[in-house]
Parts: sequence; structure tokens; C-alpha cells
Amino acid sequence: MEERDIVVVGGGPAGAATALWLREVDPGLASRCVVLDRAEFPRDKTCAGGLIPHTLELLADLGLSLDVPHVRVDRARVETGGSPVSVAQEGICWVIRRCEFDAMLLDAARARGIEVRCGIKVESLRREGERIVVETSGGSILARAVVGADGSGSLVRRSLVESGPGWVARASMADVPTGRDVPDEIFEFDFRSIRAGLAGYEWSFPCLVDGRPHWNVGVYSLRRDGEGGRIGRLLDRRAGGPGVRHQAAPIRLYDGRSPIAAPGVLLVGDAAGAEALLGEGISFALDYGRLAAAELSSGFARGDLSFAGWSEAVRRSPMGRKLRRLAMFARLFYGPTSPIWFFLMRLSGRVQAIGLNWYNGVGASTRASASFDPGVAGRPPARR
Ligand SMILES: Cc1cc2nc3c(=O)[nH]c(=O)nc-3n(C[C@H](O)[C@H](O)[C@H](O)COP(=O)(O)OP(=O)(O)OC[C@H]3O[C@@H](n4cnc5c(N)ncnc54)[C@H](O)[C@@H]3O)c2cc1C
Repeated sequence: MEERDIVVVGGGPAGAATALWLREVDPGLASRCVVLDRAEFPRDKTCAGGLIPHTLELLADLGLSLDVPHVRVDRARVETGGSPVSVAQEGICWVIRRCEFDAMLLDAARARGIEVRCGIKVESLRREGERIVVETSGGSILARAVVGADGSGSLVRRSLVESGPGWVARASMADVPTGRDVPDEIFEFDFRSIRAGLAGYEWSFPCLVDGRPHWNVGVYSLRRDGEGGRIGRLLDRRAGGPGVRHQAAPIRLYDGRSPIAAPGVLLVGDAAGAEALLGEGISFALDYGRLAAAELSSGFARGDLSFAGWSEAVRRSPMGRKLRRLAMFARLFYGPTSPIWFFLMRLSGRVQAIGLNWYNGVGASTRASASFDPGVAGRPPARR
């Protein structure tokens, strides 16, 4: 049987970032690692593709730039039920398509000498002594450590860490052509449907699909079950009518309590949990990758692959603290006291700017202006 020190299951942003960071911190170990993904890349992923500025900082730390088609968003509009909140800031967000972005990351990993095998599905995992047998569509691999980077439905989690359902949200989206030549540089978050019972929000992001401007519109719900009808109706309305193709996917959320490691196993990215307030996970996937590479390197150096400290290392990291705060905000903003929190948020433009910069992971020095100015041009598709 083939033997490997590390098998990374999943070549999305979390798996690719783990391998790329491992190459930085421990090139010898990286050469004994393999990344497996069931898909052939470029592959699509149901995702709005919004990247907060912190994502670009993380790419820069890896010596990478955003070398794929994207729309830079400089203005945001937030609807909460009172006057809309408008925010103008250079580079609030960048919107990419996942087929291009994820392929770029995996190509970078390959170019740096990481072995990546696409079209290889992991079918089961089991322990054999202190090692893990990874059964794949391309044969068996005996691994000393497995990184579960296989997304919200993680087989690695279900097989080796815990089998419970966990905290899982749901998001649905559709791409709608704008009929224009140039994409708008504004996005919209709309929380008004909370009053009608949605524990989440609607969005419109400008994006490029095959080079043509589109709106990516979507609905996020903290509740995964029993919301299909409501989400479908909201999505049709936001897309401007029925008939557009809906794509839906679960998003596993980080709650700070569920296990994210077991002997020989680390979970990263959505397999460990994305943030609960907006369902954002790409920047976190890259952050998880950096932390995981350090954890793997130190575990192999010490000869201790229990990963007993991984949950705590994540919890206490700046990323873990942010994830926990966002989980708390999600409970407040989508809970019974929601109107109070939105009212407080609307009170101060300064608080909004601080909140935005904190969320985006940019320094306090970043120029930001937030106001109650409802007159923002280039509106995304309006709700009827
Ligand atoms: C509708 C929607 C909109 C979203 N919008 C945003 C957004 O705008 N911004 C943002 O930051 N986040 C967004 N997210 C969340 C984001 O998509 C995820 O957080 C992100 O994809 C997590 O990356 P990952 O690498 O952990 O997992 P994934 O991207 O899911 O990658 C997992 C990989 O594992 C592979 N895999 C799975 N099982 C196996 C197996 N058994 N064998 C081999 N390979 C396997 C898959 O093929 C896949 O390539 C959105 C999610 C949804 C559903």
C-alpha cells in the first residue's frame, strides 16, 4: 500500500492553503504530502465568490496575487428596515468565480512542488493502529496524518471525528445577467426579510460569468431545514422572477465547541466551520490552512500526532476569536432581540465603519466612510 505522511482530503481553498503554507514552513514535510480531490479542476462550487480584503492579504503572504477575473467592489448598501446604510471604501470586497479562483490556488500548489491528484474520490477512512487507511477511487493510502479539507459535508469529519449534524446553515444563489457591458461596483446586503421570519439575509454581488457582467443574488439562512420554500421565493424575487437556475448548498458553521480534531486528524475550512453571521468562509479557509501547516509541522517534529491542542489553537487564534464573535452576533442579529441590534447598528456611521473594517480584517488606518446616504447609484436588482 502507498504510504504518505500527510493526506489532505479536498483541494478547495482550505486544502490548497494548507499545502501551500506547509511548503513555506516545512518543505520536507510538504514533499511527503498529497492533496486529493474528487473533482477535476477547474470545478465549480456553489458560492457567491466574495473575498474580503483580508483574503488578498493572505494571498500576498503566500506570494500570490488575485490573478483571475474579478470585480472590485467599492460601495456597499445595507438594508435593515430603516434608512439604508451606504458605505464607500476602495476595495470593500473582490468578487471572483470559484472555478477560476480554486484552480489558481491548486495550480500554485502544484507549481511549488505539491503533489495534487484530481478526480480521486476518498471513499472511506479507517484507523489501523496509529495510522489511517484512506481508501480512494485510485487505490489505498496509509497516512500518518489526514487533513479534512473536504467541505461542509466532510467525510473525514463523519468517519474519524464526530458524526453529529452540527450547526449547519443553508445558502441559495443564482447568477442573473445584467445586460450591461461593465459590472457595477456596488454590492447589497438586505436584512429586511428577518421581519418575515428569515434567520439570515439576501445579497446581490456584481460578478463576471465568462467575462459578462452578472448579479450573483442569494439568500442565506441560519436554519438549514424547513426553509426551502421561503428561500426559493425570496431568491426568485431577488432574481427578478422565477425561471433562473437556483443552486443551494449547506455551510457548516464554527461554534467553538464541536470537535475539529482527533488523533491523526485535523479539520480545516468548512469541515471545521465557517463564520455564522454572513456564511463567509474563503478567507477563513486560507487562515485555517496557515494554522494547520504550523500544527502539522510541530506535531511531526515532536513525534506527537494526537493534535490534542488543535481545537484550542484555533479557538485562541485571532481567526478563532473572530469566528466566535461572529457566532455570537449571528445569534443576536437573527434572534428575538434582532430589532434592537439593527437599531443600534444604524445609530452611528462610525460604528458601522469600525465594524466593517473589523469584519474585512483591515487596519484601523484604512479610509472608510459610512453614512445614511440612500442615494447610491448603480443599484443592484431591487426587491419588488
Ligand atoms: C451559496 C453560497 C455562497 C457563498 N458565498 C461566499 C462568499 O461570497 N464568500 C465567502 O468567503 N464564502 C462564501 N461561501 C462559503 C464558501 O463557499 C466556503 O466557506 C468555502 O468554499 C470553504 O472552502 P473549503 O476549502 O473548506 O471547502 P470547499 O470549497 O467545499 O472544498 C472542498 C473540496 O473537497 C472536495 N471533496 C469533498 N469530498 C471529497 C471526497 N470524499 N474525496 C475527495 N475530495 C472531496 C470537493 O470536491 C471540494 O473541492 C458561500 C457558500 C455558499 C453555499
